[in-house]
Amino acid sequence: MQIIFKETFINMSQIIGFPRIGKNRELKKVLEAFWSDNTNNKTISLQELAKTCDDLIYQHWLCQKSLSNVCINDFSLYDNVLDLAFTLGVIPQRFKQQNIYGLECYFAMARGNKNAVACEMTKWFNTNYHYVVPEISADEGYTLYSHFGDETNAKFFDISKQYQRALSNNLTPKISLIGLFTFLGLSKFNPQDYDKIFQKISSLYIQFFTDLIQKIQQINNTNNTNNTNNTNNTNNNTNNNIYIEFNEPIFSLGDNNNYKNEYLKYIKNFYNILVEKCQNTNVKLIITSYFEHSNEATEILLKSNIYGIGLDFLYGEKNFEVLPKFAKTNKVLFAGLIDGRNIWAADLQQKLNTIKSKILPFVSAENLVITSSCSLLHVPFDKQSEKGFVKDNILPWFAFATDKINEIITLNNLVSNTNNEFTNDYFKQNQIVIADRKNSTETNNLQIRQRIEVIKNDNAVNQRQLPFSERIKLQHKVLNYPKLATTTIGSFPQTENIRKLRLQYKKNEISDAEYTNGIQAYIKDCIAFQESIGLDVLVHGEPERNDMVEYFGEQLTGFVFTKNAWVQSYGSRCVKPPIIYGDVARPKAMTVNWISYAQSLTSKIVKGMLTGPVTILNWSFVRDDLPRNNVCEQIAIAISDEINDLQNANIKIIQVDEAAFKEGYPLRKENIPFYESWSVNAFKLSTAIAKPQTQIHTHMCYSEFNAIIKTIEALDADVISIETSRSGNELLKIFKNIGYSHEIGPGVYDIHSPRIPNKEEIKQQIYALLEVLPAKQLWINPDCGLKTRRWEEVKPALTNLISAVNEVRKELNL
Ligand code: GLN
Ligand code: ZN
Repeated sequence: MQIIFKETFINMSQIIGFPRIGKNRELKKVLEAFWSDNTNNKTISLQELAKTCDDLIYQHWLCQKSLSNVCINDFSLYDNVLDLAFTLGVIPQRFKQQNIYGLECYFAMARGNKNAVACEMTKWFNTNYHYVVPEISADEGYTLYSHFGDETNAKFFDISKQYQRALSNNLTPKISLIGLFTFLGLSKFNPQDYDKIFQKISSLYIQFFTDLIQKIQQINNTNNTNNTNNTNNTNNNTNNNIYIEFNEPIFSLGDNNNYKNEYLKYIKNFYNILVEKCQNTNVKLIITSYFEHSNEATEILLKSNIYGIGLDFLYGEKNFEVLPKFAKTNKVLFAGLIDGRNIWAADLQQKLNTIKSKILPFVSAENLVITSSCSLLHVPFDKQSEKGFVKDNILPWFAFATDKINEIITLNNLVSNTNNEFTNDYFKQNQIVIADRKNSTETNNLQIRQRIEVIKNDNAVNQRQLPFSERIKLQHKVLNYPKLATTTIGSFPQTENIRKLRLQYKKNEISDAEYTNGIQAYIKDCIAFQESIGLDVLVHGEPERNDMVEYFGEQLTGFVFTKNAWVQSYGSRCVKPPIIYGDVARPKAMTVNWISYAQSLTSKIVKGMLTGPVTILNWSFVRDDLPRNNVCEQIAIAISDEINDLQNANIKIIQVDEAAFKEGYPLRKENIPFYESWSVNAFKLSTAIAKPQTQIHTHMCYSEFNAIIKTIEALDADVISIETSRSGNELLKIFKNIGYSHEIGPGVYDIHSPRIPNKEEIKQQIYALLEVLPAKQLWINPDCGLKTRRWEEVKPALTNLISAVNEVRKELNL
């Protein structure tokens, strides 16, 4: 192979973090066993839990051993943000009061216990990972490690122990920490207290950091003494530096954060203090941000005394713009060039070209480190287990975490001119795979491309035929539902039997007819139950669906599914996103048979149930060779065809779920208008086919619409059902304030809890809704699908809901 660059590099390669759930979700299994009830003797001990964690950490280090360093403290029992809060002693009062310590306290914060509700959990930036939200009070005193508990418990949080362990295994550790600004930026507190809280938490953080440095120094000193006579030391840490990487993705939000960049004034000073604490040590500090550019913070950091800056060049193109400013400093650039959020093999030649043309003119070769764009937490572990499951011609196109490490090593060796046989082969193979994917005919579907071309020139294609004000009159005439019409969000309990039936069918253990009979029996019961309690608009219950995206993906072209490609969503929960590799098309109707069957059983209206294009997109790994908006358009067309088939089959109401509509929002304000325009277009493109009298519903699983209400209105759905039962109807007021005229079903009870709401509280909730919106605009429904609940909960809950509505109707003469 041709030698590409001549400069000498510091020759470092690394990642920001490794998936921690384990190759076969070992962490999930051990955690769930640990949490399970003691009474049935299944519970495992703290020691067993610790052993599994230690094994996992070690296995994950081995995956990284050919990099220049392995990550320490990227592992977590539940969540890294929670780990830091717990370490700093930032424990909410309701847990402190209980005098619980160690894992008991830690898991109570994560999951709640019988005396206190869990801390909130929310999305880690725009990923599908969820972190535990720290709660900070300006008046409370916090003490480092205050709730670690006894030694066995505290060991789970001991970073220096892991550091020592890596060293003794001849690995070079790099410590990964959540940065102070990200920690504060993601915490819950009164924004007016920012300065006060900043002082308090930053001093705690400095204490924690100083203590860590001291422990590490001690370990190093002992280690060096031990190693003086040991010539066999294979530790590849040639420069003896100790790297600490601070994860500061908050810097990527620009001014799209609660504190309006107020924190910028503190960055330089704070990190300079940490650098000072490292005087006379080999500790090097790196500040890393990702998911977007972070130019405001980078400009400040360039003037600070830190060692290196990590930037994401995949999701933050604009990071290139700040590189000329690197030229005048000797800061080391940790260039995030391998995608930590998607599963496609990188084109290594193209990466080399980028480095050459866009980075090296500004950052000297010695000051360049190749890294992943973010933690590999967001991609699955290893594609080996997909052999024989994913088609042979497609599997090589993927790169999961372990492949990404190889890509980084190869790229680094190529730029540093230290390539060996492994990297030469890897590079060659990589170029074959890239060419193969580019030239594949499987990714292109001419027919769908042509349809899109036609659509482009048709302005009316995403408009319903009549405006809402006229449609709704027709709909009321045809559908004839009462005021405060009652319905559900779609799914009914997924029973053990139903899951078994689907599994048997998948494994070919039962015939088509047996499967159809089983599903139809469930639908029949479901319809009978809904009729018996007197719901107005019925659903079939979704027994045939495993997952609201997977069900559709499996029937569309362009999707591929994996067997074991799990990604952590929160705690022990994982998701297995579909992979969109090619053009999306719908070979045949996907839901019509089941919905028609349900409709044939009743004279009431059965609502057809679909997942919307934006949600299908946002919950998948999406191809990177076509813009996301184009992929979304293709899915929209498939959904549009399905809606048309449903209405032709005489289905009069169709719900298009957009549970993940909000999830796709870009992090920076300047990118929001573009997202809104194409996502709204896609939704409208899918629903515009509906005749004026076909009523289109949509459902979203949240209630905070203040910032996006105009966009929600622009979707032009006839009815929207939303979450509100947990957040109260304060948030509903925005609908009134902007004069939202379409119909709304704000959830009247929380389906996420097994608690059965009684009639009185539902009535109260309905009256509360009526204070904000008129009866003619309101639908009454639970706040989400019922699939995670049991029939024993659903039956009384919905019965109470109907009684509540009936009484309100009577009391108000509706
Ligand atoms: N129709 C889906 C259901 O009821 C909606 C689920 C969701 O919004 N997450 O299960
Ligand atoms: Zn929902």
